[in-house]
Amino acid sequence: MSEFKNFDLEKEIETRGRKIHGFVNIAAKPDGSYVKLPVLMAIGKEDGPIVLADGCNHGDEHEGAEAIISAYHALDVDRMKGTFVGVPVINMEAFNNLSRYGTSDFVPVDMNRIFPGNDKGTISQYVAHFYAENFVRKANALITIHGGGNYLYLEPITLYQDNNDEISKKSAEMAKVFGFKYLWKNKDYSEDSGFLDEVSYRLGVPSITPEIGGQTTRNGSREKNISDTRDGIMNVLRVFEIIDEPVKPVQQQINVEVDYLFIKEGGFNKPQKRPGERVKKGECLAIITNLFGEEIDRLEAPYDGVIVGYWAYSVCQPRSWICMLGKVE
Ligand SMILES: [Zn+2]
Repeated sequence: MSEFKNFDLEKEIETRGRKIHGFVNIAAKPDGSYVKLPVLMAIGKEDGPIVLADGCNHGDEHEGAEAIISAYHALDVDRMKGTFVGVPVINMEAFNNLSRYGTSDFVPVDMNRIFPGNDKGTISQYVAHFYAENFVRKANALITIHGGGNYLYLEPITLYQDNNDEISKKSAEMAKVFGFKYLWKNKDYSEDSGFLDEVSYRLGVPSITPEIGGQTTRNGSREKNISDTRDGIMNVLRVFEIIDEPVKPVQQQINVEVDYLFIKEGGFNKPQKRPGERVKKGECLAIITNLFGEEIDRLEAPYDGVIVGYWAYSVCQPRSWICMLGKVE
C-alpha cells in the first residue's frame, strides 16, 4: 500500500492479522506532493492494546526511524494480541531537510515544543495536532524516540513521567524494560508544555522518550544503536502482552537527573571526558580556546556525576550548553 485514504486507526485495526504500511497525506505542497506521515501497522491476529512508536520528531534523529521500521518487519502478526503502530518520521519536512527543523513554516518551529498542536496553526502545528488526535489519543502507550541528531552525542537514556499515578507507573515500567543504560525521571513536568511525551501523559497515554546516539556515532555504532532501540520496542510490546513472551531481562541501569551545563565564551570546544565517564565535582569537563590557541573558558563539574551527552561540534557558541551531566541517584 502506498496511501491510506481517510485514515482511521480504529477502522484499520478491525481487519486483524495483517501488516499494512503507507502514507497518510496531510496537506498539499506547492509542487503537488504532500506533507505526509509514513505509517506501518502490525495488527495482531487477536485483539489487544495499541502501542505507538514514533521517530524523527526532530528530523535529524534517525535511530528511532530505523528501529521502528526494523521492529515492524520483525513482528509476527499471527502471534500478536494487539497492534504495533510505527510512525518512523512525524516531522517529514525536517527529515527531508536533514535537520532538526523543517522549512515549511514561516519561521523554523521545534516540533517537540508545540504539541498538542493547533488545527489552525502553521503546518508543523497542524501536523502535531493531526498526530496527537489521530494517533496518540487512540494508543494505549507511546514510545517517542529521540537522539543526538546533528548536534549532540547522547548515551542511551530513557526519560519517563514521574507524577505518582498509574500512568506514571506504567511509564516507569516501560522505561525500565526498554533497557537503555540510563533512566531519567522527568522532574520538570509542566501542564502547558509542548513536549509530546507530556502531552501524551495529559491525554492519559503512558509514554517514554528514549534518546540515543547522534551523528558522531553513526560510523561505529549505527547498527547497534538501531538494534538496541528495536529490542526496547519489542520489550515494551511484551509488557503490554502484545507479544506473548516473558519480558526479556535488561542490563543494570543507572538512575540520573540530567542538567545541561552552559559555557560563557564561544570558541573551539575540547571535551576532557569520555561519554559515560564518572566525574568528580570541580573536575574540568571542557576547555574553550580562541583562534590564537589561548584558553578563554573552561567548564567544571558542578557536582559528582556521569557524562551522558555532549555538544558534538568542535566549535561552540557563547552561552550555549556543551555538556549533559547526570547526577547519579
Ligand atoms: Zn529530539
